[in-house]
Amino acid sequence: MTGTVYLVGAGPGAPDLLTLRAARLLARADIVFHDALVHPETVALAEHAQLVAVGKRCGKHSTAQQFINKRLVDAARVHRVVVRLKGGDPMLFGRAQEEIAALEAAGIACEVVPGVTAALAAAAELKTSLTQRGNARSIAFATPRVGDGEHASAWADGIIHADAGAIYMGVGQAAAIAATLLAAGKPASLPVAVIENASLPGVRIRYTTLHDLPALAETEVAGPALILLGPQFTPRDQKDFGMVAQQNRTVLRTAAA
Ligand code: SAH
Repeated sequence: MTGTVYLVGAGPGAPDLLTLRAARLLARADIVFHDALVHPETVALAEHAQLVAVGKRCGKHSTAQQFINKRLVDAARVHRVVVRLKGGDPMLFGRAQEEIAALEAAGIACEVVPGVTAALAAAAELKTSLTQRGNARSIAFATPRVGDGEHASAWADGIIHADAGAIYMGVGQAAAIAATLLAAGKPASLPVAVIENASLPGVRIRYTTLHDLPALAETEVAGPALILLGPQFTPRDQKDFGMVAQQNRTVLRTAAA
């Protein structure tokens, strides 16, 4: 018997932002390999499964990825339903392609179950459309992060040419991001929002500008955070100016208007 490996999106953090398909698969799973960022309540839906935590919070070494690939292949040889549970959507900055390639090379069936990606959860927190009419007809998803053994790429090209951008795994490189985009001609006044822990109780939103984005690197960002850039990402409401705590939600504006 050879099982099927399901690459399943766990969503951005809140356990109820999971698809029904994902929940049903977790209930049927024999074994679940989950990322560190996946909420414990989501993992707990796999009542009958053996649980294996894999992956570091921020990027993985290629050897670790190869090890995960091998474990998925091995698991499918002894289990019917193998779930690889990944944060957000598996197909965005999730190393899904390596896993799919390894499974296909071993002749193992695999399926992908989409999830809510961080950029969508961040837009929901801001109540600001990623494609706001009149402001943005295009948005580029990008990361400046380069994995081990990968060549540095022109990650900024998409953002430079799009109306708006969503930058994953970028907060630690805020200064380099700002410098690259300013050098490419993006205006210093370009609105930027940094959303930390989107969809979770500890969500924090910071509004700034491209010019002042590097200052964020100096502030403490503990959870996963997404950078959204584009004309629509200005504070929506006067109460977003200054520091406002609303129900354990902190909205902090770091730049002058
Ligand atoms: N496949 C995932 C992305 C994995 S890369 C997805 O589709 O969302 C991990 C990065 O995603 C983090 O460094 C951060 O930039 C972003 N991220 C993940 N969860 C987030 C959250 N709840 N709030 C804000 N950003 C998040």
